[in-house]
Amino acid sequence: MKGRRKAAGPKRDVFKQRLAKLRRRLAQTGLDENDPFLVSARANIQYLCGFTGSYGFLTVSAYQATLYTDGRYTTQARAQACGVDICAPSQRPLERLLDDLKKRKAGRIGFEENRLSYALYQALRRALRRARFEPLNGVIEQFRLVKSADEIKKIRRAARLNSKAFDNVCSRARVEWTESRFAAELDLEVRLLGADGPAFETIVASGAHSALPHAHPRPVRLAPNSLIVVDHGAILDGYNSDMTRALCFGRIGETEQRMVRGVSEAQQAAVAAVRSGVQAGTIDRAARKVLEKFDLADAFPHATGHGVGLEIHEQPRIGVGEKTRLTTGMVITIEPGAYLDGIGGVRIEDLAVVTKSGCEILSRTPRQLRVL
Ligand code: ZN
Ligand code: ZN
Repeated sequence: MKGRRKAAGPKRDVFKQRLAKLRRRLAQTGLDENDPFLVSARANIQYLCGFTGSYGFLTVSAYQATLYTDGRYTTQARAQACGVDICAPSQRPLERLLDDLKKRKAGRIGFEENRLSYALYQALRRALRRARFEPLNGVIEQFRLVKSADEIKKIRRAARLNSKAFDNVCSRARVEWTESRFAAELDLEVRLLGADGPAFETIVASGAHSALPHAHPRPVRLAPNSLIVVDHGAILDGYNSDMTRALCFGRIGETEQRMVRGVSEAQQAAVAAVRSGVQAGTIDRAARKVLEKFDLADAFPHATGHGVGLEIHEQPRIGVGEKTRLTTGMVITIEPGAYLDGIGGVRIEDLAVVTKSGCEILSRTPRQLRVL
């Protein structure tokens, strides 16, 4: 089928403005009016037209924008996609895209180098032997760096839901639970509270297992008198939230207490360093400096934070030496951690909106170690 979706006013205006902005940007890259930019990243397609299906490509040039998907998404594309033509054949959707590109006889084709599979790139080159392929990286990601007031509102709601789910589950949690049970309760809770679903695979790691920053929950009972790291998020209205807290049943030992104090101070120092105009690397350095004081510098193997929006991990990266300057409206996490092999780990993560003079913390849950 082919057709153009008629969307409601304000929603359509947002997508219209985003497409117009992209077209202005494409005009600066050397693509001619007839040359298409092939958008293949799911979140970028969602950002430009609202479509959230798992299969799709968007071609944008000066006077056209077409969403290519397949028959599974015909109804969804009609309901969601704004300001673009829709091509959703039930058979061989990729061939339709290649045929349409061939018909246009474009001299150049822009594409997202870091988002397009090698297999598809090869198929494009075979089908369009005369075209020049122009890698255009981060064009739409750059637009997505700074969130609009409406996007911030959605992320704020997702963060509130995240905190509420955590608090609700903590109030009924039992030491007899397994890590898997705790994670499943959180996933259930976010859905019961109205989220589209968890933002990523929930991390619940207790005892020595918490020394793995990206631990997978195990069907193993929570370890009493040890650190438990819980990292989870919710997707609401397409936008993500992300929060980590540490908790324990009983009492933790001295080493663990030092880790909690160190990470907590590091997190506060990093939060205090956030404001518009500061380089991302400066925030990271603020956290590392505190961890050095606690002799935990080598126990912190990841970046201090990352951007959050339509994707759970997006720009800017808050890591060592990162030069990106924070700007009002960026949404980032601040999440230093410390992990000691054989002992355990701590991470404290808040979601924050950068403001002119500092930041607004969106995570509502107290940061202290929660003793259950
Ligand atoms: Zn997280
Ligand atoms: Zn995170």
